[in-house]
Amino acid sequence: MSKANILVVDDYPDNLRTLSFILSERGYRVRKAIHGEMALETIQVELPDLILLDIRMPQMDGYQVCTKLKAEDRTRDIPIIFLSAMNEAADKVKAFAVGGADYIAKPFQEEEVLARIQYQLTIRRQQQAINEQNRRLQQEIQERYSAQAETQLLLTVIQSVSQASDFPEALQAVLCAVRQAIGWDYGEAWSASLERDVFLLSQTCYDRSDAQLQQFHQASLDLIFPLDGGLPGQIWKSHQPHWIEDISQTSESTFLRAEIAAECGLKTAFGVPIVSENEVLTILVFFKRSQMPQDAKLLQLISAIALQLGLLMRRKQAEDALRQLNQELQRLANLDGLTQIANRRYFNQVFQVEWQRLKREQQFLSVILADVDYFKLYNDYYGHQAGDECLKQIAHALEASVRRPADLVARYGGEEFIIVLPNTIGEGAVQVAEKIQKAIANLQILHQRSNVSDRVTLSLGIASIVPSADIEPGRLIATADRALYEAKANGRNTFRVRQFQSSILTPTPDPQP
Ligand code: GH3
Ligand code: MG
Ligand code: MG
Repeated sequence: MSKANILVVDDYPDNLRTLSFILSERGYRVRKAIHGEMALETIQVELPDLILLDIRMPQMDGYQVCTKLKAEDRTRDIPIIFLSAMNEAADKVKAFAVGGADYIAKPFQEEEVLARIQYQLTIRRQQQAINEQNRRLQQEIQERYSAQAETQLLLTVIQSVSQASDFPEALQAVLCAVRQAIGWDYGEAWSASLERDVFLLSQTCYDRSDAQLQQFHQASLDLIFPLDGGLPGQIWKSHQPHWIEDISQTSESTFLRAEIAAECGLKTAFGVPIVSENEVLTILVFFKRSQMPQDAKLLQLISAIALQLGLLMRRKQAEDALRQLNQELQRLANLDGLTQIANRRYFNQVFQVEWQRLKREQQFLSVILADVDYFKLYNDYYGHQAGDECLKQIAHALEASVRRPADLVARYGGEEFIIVLPNTIGEGAVQVAEKIQKAIANLQILHQRSNVSDRVTLSLGIASIVPSADIEPGRLIATADRALYEAKANGRNTFRVRQFQSSILTPTPDPQP
């Protein structure tokens, strides 16, 4: 450890010489001052580790020097040992009262001076070590805390974005999360409308019960910012965050709502861009009621969040587009191109799912197979295109005839349709079949070649079952097909029902439509 640097202040040169000799001999670095002013100047040049200070001096005495040093942050902690010839109680009391660390009476004993100096220096070193440790600890805590808060906020933001179903919802969630975390009064998001070259207010977040903030929101709703105007414009041009410490000091060209903001008690504002692929998508702006000088750390934090947000938004947009595309492809894959109702592929999927579900629930599953009567003749007579039109109308009418959300109408083949009716017993399916026949009759599509009517008609085969593990799902459809065959054989424009009973197929009596 390097030896301490000691300042000796005494107006009596002999004392100075003696003391500095003793101290130098012990390896201390010694500086000397012969009056108070000189002592203060010397201290300013380099701070001593300890001061030996004479009390009685002309002009400025030791107490005054000490008082000055104790009043300043830089010099407050330097230990001062007073030296005085007057070994009186009153002096000692005053010496400690003005902040002296110790008191040595002249004439002094060499060993006593050295021991007292040593003692003070040791205390000071320990104090310094403790201070340094505290400072470091505090810094560490602060860093850790702010890092934690930052991480927490970032996590909240990421979570909000990922949970949101679309961009506006995500933006709203982020706006509120950030506003709450930083404890500002009002948050808003401006989105660029590039077709119109303006910024439009897209989201706000504030305490809705606060009348002033409500007023500010109302006033802002009516505003349309040019892309290069106001705070959003500034940010849009620079791609940089921008801080306005005192809104009331801005001109209308830099802050378009200065007056309203002042009226509503808002003092400070800052905005941060959400940039993605070099394009400002949105600008987040926050307002505070108390005036706040620019906080670089806060701007940095919100910018970091905005950066994350930009990346996440872009990813989310891409994901949304992909999901939409997938859904569309899925829809197309499940859709019959001519009639725009479900196709056979989709029917197969739904039928399997419902079979399993109703097997678990031990509930009835019914299907109706419908086939257009004498449709070959229709095509032959009216042409294929008219045939297509006819199928479309029938599909539409079938869809309109089923009501329950779980019901499904699908095109099963050329002029055959299938209707899946979950949780429906045979009687229910019969009602649906009757409804279908009425709906088709109401279409009043002329069919002059039909042998059963002068309008287009359907034959329907109905089958119902409570699915079980020992029955093949396909058998239900085969049964409906058989019922359909019977309807055809029985003159068409009618329906037949077949039911499973204890795995044995038994036809029910013919119902008349
Ligand atoms: P049935 O009363 O016994 O059902 O007689 P049908 O003529 O309706 O039955 P068949 O199976 O002999 O003929 C079905 C006809 O349906 C054959 C075909 O011309 C027509 N068809 C099948 N799919 C389409 C289609 O997508 N568009 C058109 N326009 N006609 C189709
Ligand atoms: Mg057919
Ligand atoms: Mg037919």
